[in-house]
Amino acid sequence: VPAELIRNFSIIAHVDHGKSTLADRLLEITGTMKADPSNKQVLDRLQVEKDRGITVKAQSVSIWHKSGDKEYLLNLIDTPGHVDFSNEVFRSLSACQGVLLLVDANQGVQAQTVANFYLAFSKDLVILPVLNKIDLKNAEPEVVANQLQALFDIDPSDVLKISAKTGQGVPALLEAIIGRIPAPQTDRDLPLRALIYDSWFDRYKGAIVVVYLQTGQIRVGDHICSAHTGIEYTVKSVGVLRPHQQPTNKLSGGQVGYIQCNMRTTQEAHIGDTLYLKSQPVTDVEQLTPAKPMVFAGVFPLDQSQNPVLRTAIEKLTLNDPAVSVKQDTSPALGQGWRLGFLGLLHMEVFNQRLEQEHNAHAIITAPSVTYKLKIKGKKNQELMGGETIYISNPAHWPHPQIIEEMSEPIVLATIITPDDYLGKIMSLCNERRGIQQNISNIDNKRIMLQFVFPLNEIIVNFHDGLKAISSGFASFDYEDAGYSPTNLVKLSILLNGSAVDELSIIVHHSKVDFEGRALCRKLVEIIPRQMFQIAIQATVNGKIIARETLKAYRKDVTAKLYGGDVTRRTKLLKQQAEGKKKMKMIANIQIPRDTFIEILKKE
Ligand code: GDP
Ligand code: MG
Repeated sequence: VPAELIRNFSIIAHVDHGKSTLADRLLEITGTMKADPSNKQVLDRLQVEKDRGITVKAQSVSIWHKSGDKEYLLNLIDTPGHVDFSNEVFRSLSACQGVLLLVDANQGVQAQTVANFYLAFSKDLVILPVLNKIDLKNAEPEVVANQLQALFDIDPSDVLKISAKTGQGVPALLEAIIGRIPAPQTDRDLPLRALIYDSWFDRYKGAIVVVYLQTGQIRVGDHICSAHTGIEYTVKSVGVLRPHQQPTNKLSGGQVGYIQCNMRTTQEAHIGDTLYLKSQPVTDVEQLTPAKPMVFAGVFPLDQSQNPVLRTAIEKLTLNDPAVSVKQDTSPALGQGWRLGFLGLLHMEVFNQRLEQEHNAHAIITAPSVTYKLKIKGKKNQELMGGETIYISNPAHWPHPQIIEEMSEPIVLATIITPDDYLGKIMSLCNERRGIQQNISNIDNKRIMLQFVFPLNEIIVNFHDGLKAISSGFASFDYEDAGYSPTNLVKLSILLNGSAVDELSIIVHHSKVDFEGRALCRKLVEIIPRQMFQIAIQATVNGKIIARETLKAYRKDVTAKLYGGDVTRRTKLLKQQAEGKKKMKMIANIQIPRDTFIEILKKE
């Protein structure tokens, strides 16, 4: 395919604005896939995506499309919309010359629309504004086109209007893609530069990488090298994704495709790495900045015999989700495990779900924490040098307050877009989460855009859900990293029958200690099942008890109250009790359900 007949683009949008549905229609209209009413978000191939109805992995697909007398190769990348997965969007854009900025004509511009627009804008990509869902009765395409003009200076006459559901306007959109998105600039006579922007693990073939060829060509049998690791490979197969692997003779500059080259270990396929021909080395390679994990949690096997299974599962899954950072960790109560870094809480939950569904690995995940920055007092201490700055992302490692000179916590700049009816409630939620207002502006006569600085710690758990709940689902939210800010924090510890359980401790702002201490104890009483003895649950700060709850003892046999009679019911109950135990972890001689660590953070 000559480069001038190639168009590489992504669909970017707020979650639920119809990216995956539009991808379905594009695949059908171009005959890549047979039209069938059962085609729903076909690119969402993971079980977790089907369950949650969201895209978490970007997917690439090559489409042939005839326009006039020419046949074009369109490479489409469907991307996730949720804030936690914006790194997927970011690296996908490195393979594109243009984007379809999709906006739901009924909901209008949302926080993620704004974030995605600036992402594409900063990468100098051509932006095709597209209003979707015009089939809906309440669609207001003119109103939304005006929002796009007010916010991004987009000319309303450039805006396309479609229904991804019915297909209306999609043929015209295809023509606009060909007419308005530029072909990739490439030189196929230059040495090969294949930029890896995605990868997955195949049990039989090893790591398979998805690349964008900036220059040159690649064929089966070529000897290639990784610029990052220097490791050499022989190319076993190349081809395009339609969306399943379809081998081709070669891939050429400007194309998107896959390479299979017997990458055996999961550490080899670095996103952002460049592959080149061994005979034509290139040196000045582009680096993609790796995603920065913001939320950290311990991941442990239910019992240590499961450690190798979990290790392999984590290795394989991180290949597919390179935004996750991995370090070994040990915990007195939970044993050998790992400390993983995630982009956000949804990312963490999705990772956990994928461990179970795709790798059959069951893990205990501890409460998530952000990374705090502490300056240690200018005296030499046991382990730490005075004056040193340390980063703590595990509350168990929080040093004694007497040796902390200064502390700061990560903050983010958040954008919230909401109908003005909910402004009051949203303001109080933001204050409760220690937000500081930066900006407020109207994007039309009903909708408001707010900007707040928040401590990251205050929004990783339940902020988004809370915002949705108080705004009947209408407010949307997005955030970006804004560095560190001085603060005053303390470690809140939990004692179960007098034993400190460090895995349950959390770091909180000093102003919230009493409130959080009481909430934590109340939550634990709810979550921990009654046992054969009474359990005292206490919250302490610097050794001082600030809250207490008591969990009463429980009778031994769940079937005791069913005298004789119904045998099947009795066996069923006993079985349930046994199953329940398997999901428990013994900590300080107390059975704790394995999801306790996350559940305690979910605020009422
Ligand atoms: P994504 O999160 O951007 O990938 O959005 P999806 O493609 O998963 O779509 C979200 C929801 O909107 C689904 O229930 C779709 O059926 C629905 N949807 C998408 N496009 C249209 C459309 O043009 N009209 C209508 N009425 N619904 C649509
Ligand atoms: Mg989707």
